[in-house]
Amino acid sequence: MLRPILFSIIFLGAIGLFLYSVRNFISYLKLAKPEDRSGNIPQRLSNTINIAFLQTKLLRSKLAGILHLCIYWGFVVLLFVVVESIIEGFFEGFSFAFLGPFYSVLTFLQDFFGALVLVTVLFSLVRRYIGTPERLRVDTSSRKDASFILVMIALVMVTMFGMSVEKILLGQSQGYRPVSEFIAGFFSGGSHAMYEVFFWAHILIVFAFLNYLPYSKHFHVLSSVINTFLSNFRIPYQGITLKPINFEDESITQYGAKDFTDLTWKNILDGYTCTECGRCTSVCPANITGKLLNPKLIVTKIRKRTMNAGPAMVEKEEGVSELQKNLVSDYITPQELWACTTCMACVQECPVMIDHITPIVDMRRNLVMMESDFPPEMNTVFRNMENNESPWAFSAAQRNDWIDELQDELSKEGSPDCLKKVSSMGSADELDVVFWSGCAGAFDKRYRNVTKSFAKLLNKAGVKYGVLGSEEKCTGDPARRLGNEFLAASLIQQNVETLKKYNVKKVVTACPHCMNTLKNEYSAFGIELEVTHHTEFIENLLKEKKLIPTKKLDEKVTFHDSCYLGRYNDVYSSPRNSLKSVPGIDMVEMKRSGDRGLCCGAGGGRMFLEETEGKRVNIERTEEALGTGAKTIASACPFCMTMLTDGIKEKEKSDEVKVKDVAEIVLESL
Ligand code: SF4
Ligand code: SF4
Repeated sequence: MLRPILFSIIFLGAIGLFLYSVRNFISYLKLAKPEDRSGNIPQRLSNTINIAFLQTKLLRSKLAGILHLCIYWGFVVLLFVVVESIIEGFFEGFSFAFLGPFYSVLTFLQDFFGALVLVTVLFSLVRRYIGTPERLRVDTSSRKDASFILVMIALVMVTMFGMSVEKILLGQSQGYRPVSEFIAGFFSGGSHAMYEVFFWAHILIVFAFLNYLPYSKHFHVLSSVINTFLSNFRIPYQGITLKPINFEDESITQYGAKDFTDLTWKNILDGYTCTECGRCTSVCPANITGKLLNPKLIVTKIRKRTMNAGPAMVEKEEGVSELQKNLVSDYITPQELWACTTCMACVQECPVMIDHITPIVDMRRNLVMMESDFPPEMNTVFRNMENNESPWAFSAAQRNDWIDELQDELSKEGSPDCLKKVSSMGSADELDVVFWSGCAGAFDKRYRNVTKSFAKLLNKAGVKYGVLGSEEKCTGDPARRLGNEFLAASLIQQNVETLKKYNVKKVVTACPHCMNTLKNEYSAFGIELEVTHHTEFIENLLKEKKLIPTKKLDEKVTFHDSCYLGRYNDVYSSPRNSLKSVPGIDMVEMKRSGDRGLCCGAGGGRMFLEETEGKRVNIERTEEALGTGAKTIASACPFCMTMLTDGIKEKEKSDEVKVKDVAEIVLESL
């Protein structure tokens, strides 16, 4: 009689304490901004099955992925033991044996996974101290936390086997337990007292574990499935889509995020879900090249700030020093924030679907729009965008220059001119597509050749295409990523008006940044467009035999993936297929390619900022490209082209190695 009473007291205490922690946690989430994450259920379920249950992201790294998969599924199966033990606490002698043959399967799996978890936990423990991979190297307190949890898991398994072995020795075991039977072979005669010791130890460790979780990085055991379900990413990726700000809403007094309360509750949940595995940091171009930015720390600092300030805020305490602090500056420095290229490599690797970029941009928004605290060179970029609707100091009229040049060249070549100015037609209805040149495509001397090359391909394929010329304005991408949402919104609204005026529906562009903004972000400003990247367009023209490469080029080519084309829009094969269609081309991949491609260093507006900290990202990438032995580095983005060309110059390889766009290579081969 005493046993169930004692058990009930411990059970209610443990569950009560846990619910108290959960209630506190929810009250911290409520301090942050609301956000609706209710829609898109099929996508959410698919993410949850693939990423949370099948652990597909973790399996990108074979060894660690398999280890984690064993621990995860071991835990799911072992939950039955815990439930069985809890019921047994209330009703002595209870077991699921009434399930018949299914119970034998269950006990077999318990034994199998129990042994597997024990081995992997011991391996993981050793790995924390000997031969630790770089990404797992953490400060002493984090290592202690990780080791403590691993020891707890090991003890849960040891006590579980202890119970099974004692039952076997007492002749009370049911089901099929090969591992426990093997261990029991080493002992003779069971003892009921020993069984009780293992039982109570098992239960107390489980309850202690449950109550430790909300205060440790292993909270992800509980939150990762929920976090994955609530994530907005589609797999394969549609990149991070930044949310607009309603500047007409006069109740908004704080633009962007200064403290954790200015972020959304989902950003806070992300912080609590971080497992501190360091996968994000190990692929971050800024961190790799020696910058202070560490995406893992961005996430854990959000958690730390919430944990430090949340309780005092909820209790409305006064005079607490933590309340005088802020997330930005006291926890995260502007230097870290400005180093981000928004390349999404961190997001791609994160096994629990954490979004690092939205909070980074939100904090940039606050620095720019509230504090006017940003690197001085951004003044020029913002001024140009305000006055010339482009990051560069060119007039709107100069957007027509490439069109005039192209028309001259086409008439000299005797090519038919399929190009139309949309303004002269009054509408885009008669056109196959509108070609959005982008600012770099119109103004950058080098990239203008790419723009014209692609236009010539359209001409050769007989595509009826229109251009907006001086009516086109910067899509707003650099301003958005640099945190100047006010400026971005103004540019976007002007473009939306123009696109609507001409009833534009289909757009093709040679700039992945323009593509991403027009395709994924303009819908929030009132226009839905079908947007393709020029490499996708070329691939289709090749498939339809409207373009037929015949000239052999005999070139060893490596392709550099643009982050905004690949990770943001899942376009990896189109540029490669287009290149492979050219006779004589020998394609060679860089070590970091496809969805693991390394950023060129120009995204997130970094194209326009000085890079003085650590090694330059474009040099790191150029060295990797040169390491392939390719004589041509193919790219499909104006920013990548500039960064790689600068890299080649710096490495003094300009005479041997060329950076070319996919369109230029295909055109050469016609
Ligand atoms: S987006 Fe890229 S640069 Fe920014 S933190 Fe993530 S990996 Fe680093
Ligand atoms: S943010 Fe994701 S990838 Fe980075 S340490 Fe946390 S769990 Fe790992």
